[in-house]
Amino acid sequence: MGPAAVLTHSYGKKSGREKDAMARRKLIAGNWKMNGLRADGTALAASVAARLKAAGQARYDMLVCPPFPLVPLVLETVAGSGVSVGAQDCHMQVKGAHTGDTSATLLKDLGCSHVIVGHSERRTDHGETDAIVKAKAEAAVAAGLVVIVCIGETLDERDAGKTLEINRRQLLGSLPDAATASNTVIAYEPVWAIGTGRTATPEQAQEVHAMIRAELVAKLGQETADGMRVLYGGSMNPKNAKELLALPDIDGGLIGGASLKAEDFFAVAEGSPS
Ligand code: PEP
Repeated sequence: MGPAAVLTHSYGKKSGREKDAMARRKLIAGNWKMNGLRADGTALAASVAARLKAAGQARYDMLVCPPFPLVPLVLETVAGSGVSVGAQDCHMQVKGAHTGDTSATLLKDLGCSHVIVGHSERRTDHGETDAIVKAKAEAAVAAGLVVIVCIGETLDERDAGKTLEINRRQLLGSLPDAATASNTVIAYEPVWAIGTGRTATPEQAQEVHAMIRAELVAKLGQETADGMRVLYGGSMNPKNAKELLALPDIDGGLIGGASLKAEDFFAVAEGSPS
């Protein structure tokens, strides 16, 4: 089943949904994770910035999320290009005795526009629960950042038929109370697809995205839910991006590996529908 069939399958009122999808400008976000030193981080940021500038009036928003120490350098490098800069995590408190952590307030002060919270690698490596992710999301929103809240099921959970249940629980448990369409973005990232080269099929992705949209309608109301961007993440690359980004409830991508090569990152963005 191709994207058009998925779209028809998911929605009776196709034209209204299509209009909502068109109103949600695609967000193409790069998660550099713990990659890059000063020289290659600067070169990557400069190349992404130059490509976006050359593209002129791009039909998508572009964001890069480097490791914390590279944030100021990347901000300086992309200044004036239209590329936004975010971080990969923040603490839930504004300040205090939290060795090694970074506050959302500092990220905002540096010039960041976005912060990712609840990435599966944080949930796994640092034991972050939905409650912790939610507290971080609240702190991010309070600091004036756009928060990208990540959710996603493991392969075991998918195989056990728990995909929708897990994602619903993570979504409702991690969403900040203050969520609006302009301060919150959701990223559905099936854990089994992150960094593995395995991508969710359009049907698998759309099924979860449609559930997320329905839950957002129930929790936040139709207007907010219609305006909120829901990204897909998990081995998105120039080859598979076009089909995924054409789906009605996929409003962009959170991209790891492919965001480390400006050419690939840009090719993903250019694959988004016009
Ligand atoms: C990610 O880390 O958010 C991600 C989706 O990684 P990758 O694109 O490498 O699967």
